[in-house]
Amino acid sequence: MSAVIRSVISWTTVAAASLCSFLALTGPTLADAYDAYRLPCNSSELSAIGTAINNAKKLASAASNALPTKDSTGGARFQKWFGGPEGDDDPRIKQVYDEMGVNLIFQKFWCLPPSSVTPEKWAHTNAFILRGSVGEIFILSNFFSLPATGPKSQGGTIVHEVSHQSSVMSVKDDDIDGDGVNDYGPANAKTRASQSAAMARSNADNFKYFAEDTLYGVP
Ligand SMILES: [Zn+2]
Repeated sequence: MSAVIRSVISWTTVAAASLCSFLALTGPTLADAYDAYRLPCNSSELSAIGTAINNAKKLASAASNALPTKDSTGGARFQKWFGGPEGDDDPRIKQVYDEMGVNLIFQKFWCLPPSSVTPEKWAHTNAFILRGSVGEIFILSNFFSLPATGPKSQGGTIVHEVSHQSSVMSVKDDDIDGDGVNDYGPANAKTRASQSAAMARSNADNFKYFAEDTLYGVP
């Protein structure tokens, strides 16, 4: 319920920002460096995003339902992506997945044209959100080349982005090999889980791959 309220407040604040400079300082505003990237999606992009949202909801719900109870014997998949003792029980993870279904109701999607370079020059990103934002997801053209289902899917990408919007904990991307670039993909997610449960449980890709593994299987 708090997520619903928070999302509504977020958009209320955006709507009010043009009327009141104080509110503009206390909440997200549309007048920022990303205005040039807030471009409407075309009908075929909207269709793909609609399918991806439905798949993301299915992924989040399946992941939430597949989380093992404490000391269960079914925790191998949990351990593979979230580390810790097999059959571990982490209620925060369930909260992150459960919150996704609600947050996706309030999401605005923007579609950037091919070869767009964002202010951070994340040229090869599939999608991104602004730090601290809960109401909008920016989609890059690479997203539409991803499969609808299966490992590294469009729905899984939405799960990744929405996990960043969690109010339960800070879910981030991180650089595990120290080369200054954030590490993505199943192999890096599994490395994270084997090295540190805390790191794995605060990483957006780990949330993505546990969910995809639950529904589709991820080697
Ligand atoms: Zn991310």
